[in-house]
Amino acid sequence: MVPRSSGSTPFERLKNRFDRDMVCPECGYDDDEGEWLSETDGRRVVYQHICPSCGKVRQSCYTLGG
Ligand SMILES: [Zn+2]
Repeated sequence: MVPRSSGSTPFERLKNRFDRDMVCPECGYDDDEGEWLSETDGRRVVYQHICPSCGKVRQSCYTLGG
């Protein structure tokens, strides 16, 4: 087994996609140093980003493997 692949689980692919989307739709702030936080129970993953400028919370929920 390869101990560590170059990261292409569905979670990581989704996260990479979100991490390119750091511009707040509310105020236009580009949170270059921020990141989407992800939380998962194994089947569902919730991504959340809080704009440090205006406090806008963006949240996206995905179900995997359905
Ligand atoms: Zn904002």
